[in-house]
Amino acid sequence: MGGGAGIPTAAAVPGATAPEPDIGLAERLFERLRRQTADGRGVTRAAFGEGEQCAHDLVAAEGEAAGLRKHVDAGGNLYLTLPGHGATGRTILLGSHLDSVPMGGNYDGAAGVFAGLAIAAAWSRAGCSLADDLAVLALRAEESNWFPFSYIGSRMALGLLPPEALELARSDTGSSLAEHMRDLGLRPQEVAAGVPQIRPETIRAYVELHIEQGPVLIEADRPVALVDGIRGSFRYRQMRVLGEYAHSGAVPRAYRHDAVVAAADLVTRLHREWLRLEAEGRDLTLTFGQFYTDPAQHAFSKIAGEVSLSLDIRSHEAKTLETARALAHRHVDEVAAEHGVRIDTGPPTGSTPALMDRTLIQTFLTAKDALGLERFVMPSGAGHDAATFAGAGVPSLMLFVRNRNGSHNPDEAMEMDDFAAATRLLAEGVARIA
Ligand SMILES: [Zn+2]
Repeated sequence: MGGGAGIPTAAAVPGATAPEPDIGLAERLFERLRRQTADGRGVTRAAFGEGEQCAHDLVAAEGEAAGLRKHVDAGGNLYLTLPGHGATGRTILLGSHLDSVPMGGNYDGAAGVFAGLAIAAAWSRAGCSLADDLAVLALRAEESNWFPFSYIGSRMALGLLPPEALELARSDTGSSLAEHMRDLGLRPQEVAAGVPQIRPETIRAYVELHIEQGPVLIEADRPVALVDGIRGSFRYRQMRVLGEYAHSGAVPRAYRHDAVVAAADLVTRLHREWLRLEAEGRDLTLTFGQFYTDPAQHAFSKIAGEVSLSLDIRSHEAKTLETARALAHRHVDEVAAEHGVRIDTGPPTGSTPALMDRTLIQTFLTAKDALGLERFVMPSGAGHDAATFAGAGVPSLMLFVRNRNGSHNPDEAMEMDDFAAATRLLAEGVARIA
C-alpha cells in the first residue's frame, strides 16, 4: 500500500498509519440487517430471495455512499471496488456470502462482507488505496439448503457452475434457480455459458473472514484464527446393514445375523481408527449422524434385521481422506464377514479438500504478530466459498472469528470486540500483501 503520488502511504509502516476499519459501520449494518430479515426466531435470507436481496441492497448503498465502485455480475454477486493506484490489473477480494439458512444466525456470511466493507469504506473515505484494486465481494447462495448445490455464487463468479444447476428447484418455492435469477433481473444464460465474471488470474488473493462454526476458539480462548485448509469429505449418506430378523430368545448367538451388533462394531472399529490417526497428528472427523432400526419392523424382543446409518468423513489432508476411505472399505468388508450380514454402502459422495495459500498464511501470521495477537491456525470443518477460489488456483485464505453456540441457528453469538480484532487483522494482512 502507499507509494502513489498524492496517496497517503497508509501502510508504509503496516498497521501504524493505516486508517482504522469502520467497525461502527459494520455494527450498524448487523443491526439493520437483523431487523430487516428477522423471522420471529432468527433471520432468514433465502438465496436469490427477499432476505438475501435486502442484504445486498444494504451493502451496495453503504459501499456507494463511501465512494466504492459498484458492479453486479451476471449471477448477482456484488462487487464494491476501491480502485488501486498501481494499475496492476489485479484485484484483492474480501468476500463472503449474504444468504442464510432458514431461521439462521445474523453473522454467518454477513460478517465477512461487513468486515470487507468496514475496511474498504474507511480507506476510501481517507483517500487511501492499495496498488491493486480492493473489492468487497458479496456472494450469492452459499448455503446449500435453498438449492441442493454448494457454492453457487462463487462458482458463478468464476464461470464454474454446471448449467444443469440452473434447473434446480428452490426448496421453499419450487421455482428453478434460473427463474429466481430472472425475477431479479440477472442473466442465467450467461452463467449457463460458463462465462467467468472475474478471471482467476486477475485475482491477487481471495480472503474470507467468517465466524467459526465450532467451539475451538471459545475453548482455546482466542478471538481469531487463520485457516490453513478447508476439509473435504467422503460420505456414505445411505448405508444399510442387512442381517436377519429373528426371535430374541429362540436364536442362539452363533446363528444370529444381528444388524445392530454388526453396525455398532463398524462404528467402534472406525472410531478406534480415528483415535489412532489423531494420535499421529492427522486431521480427521468421523461422524455417524444417523443410526436407526426400522420402526415398522423393530421390537424389543426381536433381533434387528436392518440398520440404516450414515458415515461422514472429513479432512483437509487429501492423503488422510484417502486413508480413511480405504479403512472404511476394509472394515465394512470385515464386519460383514464376521457378523454374517450384508452391508450396502449406497453411492459414495464427497468433496475435495482445499488448501489455503502458504504465502498468505505467513503474511497474516506476521500481521498477527504486529497486532499483538497470538498465532493460532486451524482447519475449517465446514465448506466455504474460499474452497471454490482455492480450487480455481486463486491464492486464498480464511480468518475465523470466535463465536459461541455454533452456526446455522439463531443463537450464534459473536462479540463485536472479536469481530473488530479480526477485521483489524484482515486490514493489516491485506495491507501487507506484496
Ligand atoms: Zn457461511
